[in-house]
Amino acid sequence: MKMSKCKNFLFFLLAAVMLAACTNTNEKMNTCENDKMELSFSAEQAAWMSAIACDEAKGDLVALESAIHNGLEAELTVSQIKEALSQLYAYTGFPRSLNSLGVLQRVIGDRQAKGVKVIMGEDASPLSDDYDALKEGTRVQTQLVGKAFEYEFAPATDYYLKAHLFGDIFARDNLTYADRELVTVSALSGLEGVEPQLKAHIAGARNMGVTEEQLQGIVVALAANGLLNEAGRLAKAYDELANSDSGLTVERSNSTSGPTTKWSVGSPNAAYAQYFVGQSFLQPYFGGVANVTFEPRCRNNWHVHHGAVQVLICVSGKGWYQEWNKPAVPLTPGTVIAIPEGVKHWHGAAADSWMQHLAIHTQEQPGATNEWLEPVSDEQYNSVQ
Ligand code: MN
Repeated sequence: MKMSKCKNFLFFLLAAVMLAACTNTNEKMNTCENDKMELSFSAEQAAWMSAIACDEAKGDLVALESAIHNGLEAELTVSQIKEALSQLYAYTGFPRSLNSLGVLQRVIGDRQAKGVKVIMGEDASPLSDDYDALKEGTRVQTQLVGKAFEYEFAPATDYYLKAHLFGDIFARDNLTYADRELVTVSALSGLEGVEPQLKAHIAGARNMGVTEEQLQGIVVALAANGLLNEAGRLAKAYDELANSDSGLTVERSNSTSGPTTKWSVGSPNAAYAQYFVGQSFLQPYFGGVANVTFEPRCRNNWHVHHGAVQVLICVSGKGWYQEWNKPAVPLTPGTVIAIPEGVKHWHGAAADSWMQHLAIHTQEQPGATNEWLEPVSDEQYNSVQ
C-alpha cells in the first residue's frame, strides 16, 4: 500500500470509529461530544462574539449594538448570540443579560425593517426525558476544571454550578463547550476584580478545546474593537498562566536563547529594521493589530505618530516606553499605553528580557504618518534600566 493511500485509509478508519462512538454511546445526546470541544465560529465570527460578550459584561449597550450588527453581518446566527447573552447571566447577572437581549431584539427588528439579512439559526435541541442535569453537569464541570470540584463551603452554590450552569445551560447544543468558554473568557475580561475567575476560565477554555491561537485571538479582537483595558486584563491573566515549558523559542545565530512566550513571534521586522537598534520581529493579526517582538536591548528610534494615537498592549516579557524629557515607564504583560498624537517617544525591550507588545493605531486621521528620528543612544537606553 502506498503511503498516501495508507494515510487515507487510516483517516477513513479513524473517522468511522469516531462516528461509531458518536452514534452508539451518545445516541440520546444531540451533538457528539467531540464536536462540543471545538469552536463552531469562523475566526471573524469568534472576534465579533468576543466583542459582544465583553460589551455585555461592561454594560456598554451602544458598543454592543454595533458588535451585534457586525456579528450578524459575519453570519453569526441570532440563536448563537441569544444563547451567549443568556449564558452570561450566570457570570454577569440578569440585569446585564436582559439589557443585552433587549439590544439584540432591537437590532433584529431594525435589520428586518430595512430588509437586511438576519440568520435566525436553530434553537437548542430538546433534551432526552431521562436527562440528569446534576449528573451531566458534574461531568462537564470535571472536564472544564480538569478534576472533580466539590464546593463544600457552599453546597447550594455547588449544586447551582453543577446542575444549572454546567447541567442545564451547557447541555444546550446551539453553542459548543468551546464556544461557551470563549464567550465566558471574553466577558470576564470586561469585569474588574474577577481575575481569579478569568484565569480559571482561560484554563477551562483550554480544557474545552479552545486553542492558544484562539485565546490570543480574543485579546486581538478586544484590542481591535477598542476594548483596550479589557484586552490588557486578558493579556495579563493569560501571561500569568503561561506554561514556560511550552513557550516558543526563536533560534538566532548568535544566541541559543529566545523569548519564552506562547505568542507567535512572526517574521524579522525587515521593513522597519532601519528604525530599530537590535532585532525585532513582526506578527500581523486582523483589525490592524500587529504583535512586535523585541530581543533584549532592542528598541525603536525616537519617533512621532502624526494623525493617530498608537496604543501598545504588552503581552509578554519586560520593556520600556519613554516620552521625550519624561521618565521611562515599564512595560509588563497587561500594560496598556495610549501614545498621544504628536508626542516624541520610543519603545523596546529591557536589557535582560525579550518583550512583545501588540500595536494598533486608533483615531487615525487621513494622511497619518510616522516620523522617524534619531536612535535611542546606549547612554539614553542604559539610563532607564
Ligand atoms: Mn510608537
